[in-house]
Amino acid sequence: MQKQQEIDLEAEKKEILKRYRALLRACKRSIQKGDKELIRKAFDIALEAHKDMRRKTGEPYIYHPIEVAHICAEEIGLGTTSVVCALLHDVVEDTDLTLDDIKGLFGEKVAKIIDGLTKISGVFDQSSSIQAENFRKILLTLAEDVRVILIKLADRLHNMRTLDSMKRDKQLKIASETLYLYSPLAHRLGLNAIKTELEDLCLKYTEPEIFNEIVQKLEAGEPERKKFISKFIEPIKEILSEQGLKAKIIGRPKSIYSINNKMKTKGVTFDEIFDLFAIRVIIDTSPEKEKSDCWRVYSIVTDFYQPSPDRLRDWISTPKSNGYESLHTTVMGPEGKWVEVQIRTVRMDELAEKGYAAHWKYKDSTSESQLDDWIRKIREILDNPQENALEFLDDFKLNLFAEEIFAFTPKGEMKTLPIGATALDFAFDIHTKVGEKCIGAKVNHKLVPLSYKLKSGDQVEVLTSSKQTPKEDWLSYVVTARAKSKIKNALKEERKKIAEDGREMLERKFNHLKIDFTVQNINELANFFKLPSSQELFYRVSVGNINLKHLKDFHQEHGKITHKSGSLNKKKETTKSFEQMVSSVRGKSDLLVIGENLKKIDYKLSPCCNPISGDDVFGFITINEGIKIHRVNCPNAVQLLSNYAYRVVKAKWTSQELISFLAGIKITGIDEVGLVNNITKIISNELNVNMRSISFDTNDGTFEGTMMVFVHDTDHLTELMKKLKKVNGVLAVTRMDSAN
Ligand code: MN
Repeated sequence: MQKQQEIDLEAEKKEILKRYRALLRACKRSIQKGDKELIRKAFDIALEAHKDMRRKTGEPYIYHPIEVAHICAEEIGLGTTSVVCALLHDVVEDTDLTLDDIKGLFGEKVAKIIDGLTKISGVFDQSSSIQAENFRKILLTLAEDVRVILIKLADRLHNMRTLDSMKRDKQLKIASETLYLYSPLAHRLGLNAIKTELEDLCLKYTEPEIFNEIVQKLEAGEPERKKFISKFIEPIKEILSEQGLKAKIIGRPKSIYSINNKMKTKGVTFDEIFDLFAIRVIIDTSPEKEKSDCWRVYSIVTDFYQPSPDRLRDWISTPKSNGYESLHTTVMGPEGKWVEVQIRTVRMDELAEKGYAAHWKYKDSTSESQLDDWIRKIREILDNPQENALEFLDDFKLNLFAEEIFAFTPKGEMKTLPIGATALDFAFDIHTKVGEKCIGAKVNHKLVPLSYKLKSGDQVEVLTSSKQTPKEDWLSYVVTARAKSKIKNALKEERKKIAEDGREMLERKFNHLKIDFTVQNINELANFFKLPSSQELFYRVSVGNINLKHLKDFHQEHGKITHKSGSLNKKKETTKSFEQMVSSVRGKSDLLVIGENLKKIDYKLSPCCNPISGDDVFGFITINEGIKIHRVNCPNAVQLLSNYAYRVVKAKWTSQELISFLAGIKITGIDEVGLVNNITKIISNELNVNMRSISFDTNDGTFEGTMMVFVHDTDHLTELMKKLKKVNGVLAVTRMDSAN
């Protein structure tokens, strides 16, 4: 019926032009002679190339590249080249135009960026995933031209804004990818506004109920918040203008995503979050007075409100490595409420919202910025090609979102490292050779081991020895991607050398037994020991892990050896490939339904999130344990959905049968007489729930209890939690992901 609906082509044409003009207006700021023609040319080509395509929403496809270009110009502040590339970003992937065509029309630079924006397609081995390879490609281009990532982020932002028309499983996949890589990247590049919007949109699609609940509660509390904010601001405003400081003061609400995060990690309810907003003071001042004026504002604010001594953050003297500069403090406001106050200049504010692009605008050519420093480091990591894209990605990701510490060399040079970084990370940050030869360090003149976790302000002197070589266990305590990749490379080299020795030893042994040293015979032996490669065989021979006496059990015929017992001819264990499993599941029905119909397919409820009937879930195909069912909001879901989308199958509860599921509940409150008794009574008597374990901790009048109970479904669990909340003394009841 929908398809029959007549499309008003005239109206569409008008709308396309309207959007195009809006794009041009957004470009005005940076436009130079000849730019307009270039943008027009890109627009015309994209319009023609996509002319028969429509988006899932039914709209003409060209809306998408126009909107992406618009985001680039308006929200990221990029220039003409990026706008041209954004207009053309899907042309090579989706239409007949080739990269060579683009090169002929727009030159090398544009073609290169478009190439970076075009997804890799094709087949990869199972150990990797196409998504991971694509992520890796994106990161590789970051080192070459950061604009590729910025346009990619604009592309992703527009796709997230228009995710409504996608199917549920596609929504989950795209949202997970976004949370896994794109929002951390936006954060790392200092694009705060985009990062926040991406995260909020992710929550909207992964956990719609929670999202809507928070939105509603925020709206309901708004009038009261506004009143509070203006009461807070008023006295400060007066003094600021008296002192001749030009300032804008606003109340900034926290993002929905961050509110949800807080509720989850701290186990608190919405009403218990005190910092739903922050006050931001933005001053307009000259470059040379930035720092002193910010501190003047600080002094004025704290004249009125008492600051919390341990909540002062000075990111003006030492900016974050994504370029963020600001002065943060938390003060006691009216009505006894703690309020966070952020003080910054107009320049700092623009940098915080628009990130990299604004950074160029204000760039001080004499100082190498933190951000350039970061990109230089990425380039170095990427220079070491690693075989496994997923492993690489995990290492890399560790550093995207990490909070930072500052440590100093003996000469006072500052190094920025992620939280949790050890003395060994520090050594690798100085130089690869220093890291490889590191045997310990002196932190603030005291001797510490390699694994010592650094704190902000530590002064570190690295101790080295020419005899030292990288060790396997180093990998367990370094946290920077740089140190990890350097250690892995060194270990690989080391292994190669040892294997070389092993190869010679084996050759001598073969000669001794008069066995031909052929590839075939070597493989026969590797197969016998169930080793993946001859390299591994050589290595084990060298380290004495393999007993060559076994060679006597082989007999020789025409220069070819076989094992006497013939046991090695036994069929190798075969594990079904993922495709086979997927197709065997999908073949039966497109929807994997959990419940009585599914008994034949082996599935397990994943212990990491303990799904119960009624939870929003998906199935994940594991290598040895069949299909595992995870909750959509499982702590591991983002990683699984974004990297292994091809192993994810739909799953839905249909069972009406009363099956019991294990769920974890956490209770906190005030320790009152008879409380434990009241709680257990509810669980065992009133609802007929079986309890598997329960433990209570009390501490100075407060208590925290955790219990694992068997329930039928989410309604049952909610009902139980509601009753528990009513017990005298209980303050909060939350569901836990897993037993530990
Ligand atoms: Mn696109």
